[in-house]
Amino acid sequence: MTTPPPPLLSEATIIDRVDQLAAEIDRDYSGIDELVLVGVLKGSFIFLSDLARRLTIARRIEFIAVSSYGDRASEEAGGSVRLLMDVRHDLAGEHVLIVEDIVDTGHTLAYLRRAFSARQPATLRTCTLLHKPDRTEEDVELDYVGFTIPDVWVVGYGLDFAERYRTLPYVAALPPELR
Ligand code: 5GP
Repeated sequence: MTTPPPPLLSEATIIDRVDQLAAEIDRDYSGIDELVLVGVLKGSFIFLSDLARRLTIARRIEFIAVSSYGDRASEEAGGSVRLLMDVRHDLAGEHVLIVEDIVDTGHTLAYLRRAFSARQPATLRTCTLLHKPDRTEEDVELDYVGFTIPDVWVVGYGLDFAERYRTLPYVAALPPELR
């Protein structure tokens, strides 16, 4: 078995930041009936579960899936994104928070913002655990950002490389020899 890569962001660092984000979201949405957290599979599932459990406001969980890296066709199309699995409820009039693992080029979140705003939610915001500003091509609005990181391929805490490392409890930069 390969030795896991060392942490870029430790488990304690991540949890501290998730605590802060949850407190911020609680404050920003105080007084609403319910927040709909829309997690983007698969990468956001651990972040979403930690974040959702730290909120005190009323909330509901939904998941969506989009085409992503590894999908040659979408890369060649210059970052076009497809919705592979949708939410099961109408989002009109709802307070919607899209929860992503990482914003890289920004194409995915820009697409999701457009697709979800067309459904006429009461409010639509975005939350990402990680952001790589050096790689971002689309000027997408990020309302909550956990950490800004350099242009490295990261794994762990939900993020994978070819389905490996997803359940590492921390975020690591994957060295080329482990790819
Ligand atoms: P974007 O559309 O912003 O370029 O990319 C978003 C998606 O690309 C993320 O949701 C994630 O699936 C994938 N991605 C981008 N950078 C990384 C990375 O460093 N590590 C992993 N595991 N996935 C990444």
